[in-house]
Parts: sequence; structure tokens; C-alpha cells
Amino acid sequence: MRLIEIPLNMALRSVNAYLVEGDRGWSLVDSGIHTDEAVKALSDGLATAGISAKDVQRTFITHYHPDHIGLAGMMGDAGSEVVMHRPEARYARRVWSGDRTLREQFVAYLDTHGLPADIRSGAEQAWILGMKTVLPLPPITEVEDGGPVTFGGRATRAVWTPGHTDHHAVLVEDGERLLFSGDHVLPRITSNVGLYPHGHDNPLGEYLDSVGRLAALPIGRVLPAHGQPFDDLRGRVEQILEHHAARLEECLTSLEKGPRTAYEVRLRLFGTLRGGHEERFALVEILAHLRLLERRGRVRALPGSTVRWERI
Ligand SMILES: [Zn+2]
Ligand SMILES: [Zn+2]
Repeated sequence: MRLIEIPLNMALRSVNAYLVEGDRGWSLVDSGIHTDEAVKALSDGLATAGISAKDVQRTFITHYHPDHIGLAGMMGDAGSEVVMHRPEARYARRVWSGDRTLREQFVAYLDTHGLPADIRSGAEQAWILGMKTVLPLPPITEVEDGGPVTFGGRATRAVWTPGHTDHHAVLVEDGERLLFSGDHVLPRITSNVGLYPHGHDNPLGEYLDSVGRLAALPIGRVLPAHGQPFDDLRGRVEQILEHHAARLEECLTSLEKGPRTAYEVRLRLFGTLRGGHEERFALVEILAHLRLLERRGRVRALPGSTVRWERI
């Protein structure tokens, strides 16, 4: 098992691709963003193992985000079979084919939830720039939730873990009790879980359920997409659950003095953020918390051209 650290040009400094050697060949988990530096880092990482992209039989992509799927095209072009969870592969094709309605819906949604126009246009620019960080997608082999993915003779299975994206999937290797956790469980930061106009209805509720189910598996080692591998999955999941419970309380507290927009809640909960890219993730994260509170009967959304949230 080799960790290939691939640089990122964003707040997260790098993403991990994992090169796995089985007795019948090599496989890769996640691929990195499409930049010149990332192509070099991935190629160098493969070279360190004495191989190149054409020697990698299979590449599993955990989810459609550019830092994971960006170089899937490079692996596919070299002859690697690229594998993804079926509905995530379908969504990836839709997003990265440049479907403008997705972007337009999203910008209108940010407006509805109070994001100021200048930040909104920064968020839209970040979306447009993101298109350049993904190579044209290769043919993708689709696997079902629970389906087998063979890694050079090692048996792994894909497990649907919604929340960070609607159809994110991790890989579990029962033999060595390994978990390739993608962005679902990370060691030092919590995964972004956002409510989107074109996404699932209660992503934070789904996330908390799926992370809880995962913690019940007998896992010995977690191989995350950002940060270093670690062992204590249950301990980390406890921390994540506590984090979200505290944030839900903070959202409620921020509504104590009357209804507020999601952006006003975001201003109270997060400090200064760097530009539209970070602002959009912060806003959708707040909205995911507000939606879960709404489902629990604690808040309600007051409709209007700008939506405000009120405590019940
Ligand atoms: Zn991600
Ligand atoms: Zn990521």
C-alpha cells in the first residue's frame, strides 16, 4: 500500500491517492485534480513503485469532486478500468458534461438564502473554474452498493456512504480490515455536508446515519483522502457526531433573537472565509444543519424571495 500525496490549489493542501498491490497487479483509489503539478505527482508516485499508469488495472473513484475524479481520464486513457458507485458515476457525467442548468439553479439558490451578489459571483466563478480541473471522463464501470471491486486479487466491496455527496462510496477490504474512506471520514477536519437544490432532501441526516453504520464495522485501519491514515475509526466517528451535535445547537442559538437567513447564521458561526469557493461550502453546510433541525421540528423556513429560518 502506498500513499501518493497529490497537491491541491485550495485550502486543503493535498489529496491522497492509494496505490494498492495485490498478488495479481496494481490498483488505485482516487486520482487527484487535473493540474500539471498533480499529473506530475501522480506519475512520480507510480514511478516510485516502478510502474506507470498503464500498469494500474483498476481505479476506484469515491465521488465526483474534482480532487478525486480529476485525473480519472488520465488513468482511463492509459487502460485502467475506472470504477464508481452507479448513481455517483451518473451524477459525475451530468456535472462534468457542463450542464448549465445545475449551475444556474445553484446560483439562484445561493441568492434565495441571502448570499450577497459579489460573493455569489465568486462562487459561480469557482464552479466554472472547477470544470477545468477535471479531464474528460473515461468510460466508467458502475458498481452497486455492496458490490465487489477486485484489486489485483484482493477482494474489496463498495459501500454507499451518503452525506458528503449523495452517492459517495467507500471501499472496505474485510481481509485486512481496511477502509478507504474517501472524504466520508477524515482525521482532522469534518467532511463538508451540504444541502443543494438538486440533491437529497436531508443530507446531514443521511450522513449521521451512514457514518454511524460505518463505525460498527470491524475496521483496523482507515485510509482517508485527506490527512494521514489512522486506526481508531470509532473514536473519530464519536468526535464527528459531537461536532455536528454542537453545531446544531449553535444554529438554534443563532436564531434566538428572531428569524435569520442561512447566510446570517453562517456569519455568526464561521469566521472570515476566503472567497466564493469557501463561502458556498459554508452556506450549504449551514443549510444542511437547518434542514435537519427542520426535520426534527425545531425550526421552520419562512418562504419568500429571501428565505428566513425561525425557531419553533
Ligand atoms: Zn469531496
Ligand atoms: Zn476531497
